[in-house]
Amino acid sequence: MKTTKNHGISTRCVHTGEVDDQFGAPHTPLYNTSTFVFPNTKAIVDVVQGKKPGSLYTRYGMHPNIKTLEAKLATLEGAEAALSFGSGMAAEAATLLALGRKGVICIGDVYGGTMELLDSQLRSLGIPVHFLLGSELGQLEDILKEGVGMVYFETPTNPVLEIFDIEEISTLAHKYDALVCIDNTFATPINQNPLALGADLVIHSATKYLGGHSDITAGAVMGSQEHMNAIMPWRKNLGQVPAPEVASLLCRSIRSLVIRVERQNKTGQAVAEALEGHPGIKRVLYPGLASLPGHDIARRQMKGFAGMFTLELNAGYEDTTKVADRLEIIRIGPSLGGAESLCTQPVTTTHSGLSEEERKRRGISPSMIRFSMGFEDPEDLIADIRQALEVLTE
Ligand SMILES: *Cc1c(COP(=O)(O)O)cnc(C)c1O
Repeated sequence: MKTTKNHGISTRCVHTGEVDDQFGAPHTPLYNTSTFVFPNTKAIVDVVQGKKPGSLYTRYGMHPNIKTLEAKLATLEGAEAALSFGSGMAAEAATLLALGRKGVICIGDVYGGTMELLDSQLRSLGIPVHFLLGSELGQLEDILKEGVGMVYFETPTNPVLEIFDIEEISTLAHKYDALVCIDNTFATPINQNPLALGADLVIHSATKYLGGHSDITAGAVMGSQEHMNAIMPWRKNLGQVPAPEVASLLCRSIRSLVIRVERQNKTGQAVAEALEGHPGIKRVLYPGLASLPGHDIARRQMKGFAGMFTLELNAGYEDTTKVADRLEIIRIGPSLGGAESLCTQPVTTTHSGLSEEERKRRGISPSMIRFSMGFEDPEDLIADIRQALEVLTE
């Protein structure tokens, strides 16, 4: 079935990009092949020269499962085109190498791998990289004036759920011909579409909500066809495509994305609300709570608030660790967006690479536990966190 932009997001998640096969499969079956064969030379030359569409070689992304996936990824973010990758970091690396060589301004907290890629690898290539905290946004225009070509950020951020105004930052960046690239992993495309708010590029770690079952590693970038054409040769020659098996699994996941994220939105809101005001908790950081400093912007640019929140406890590092260790349903793990609820203390994992001073500057405290809500019953998750908090009063 051919979908159009007028179809709803759920319909498009199910049907977009699926190819009819000769046996009547209802969706693109898994083609576990690295190459494709042709009846004669003219047929292969037509595909090589781009005169006819067709599958050719898997690493080029010219593969039915990868094409099906990329049609779904593009429609999720309302983009002209998308490219899929073997990981979120692969998508970031190819995008930054293709389009970030005039320099990158990174705003707020970003994923640890992103920080390292920008700070170490990109700088080692002589690419100018600037880091600005949210509180330093006033300096953005001055740096843009130097001709830095890309603004890169996440919103909400990890782990303090800081919210940045995508529309406002994009307008300013475009005044200086800079591209705006947003890592939309935490928000999900169901809750937030940066391209519609003025951004040029969107990146996802599909390992998280898009995959949704903690069983695959994959990534994506969405944007204009022109930008995808610039990134394509980097992906091809750095060898970053996802395996067909992963592309096929990710398509399966995307068919249920709306249902999963709607549930995670509800659970995130219910658990965050239930815990606000608990004597063991200093702050609950969640975009759906009016108490979060960026809540008004979040309400304007997000349709839902996903399943990620951070608790800052009235406790030191040791006691915070005891709370994490006492959880029964919620397991300790550094990922997010899957069926099983997870938690992690940012100082032990995601932000362990930062100095204590730098963490302080960024408001990341040893009393924080970051949570990802899965598909379990919200009442069970609330009860689990409440019983774990009892260690603070024992
Ligand atoms: C996990 C994550 C990444 C990196 O993705 P991988 O699939 O692990 O390479 C990038 N950004 C955010 C926000 C993430 O959570």
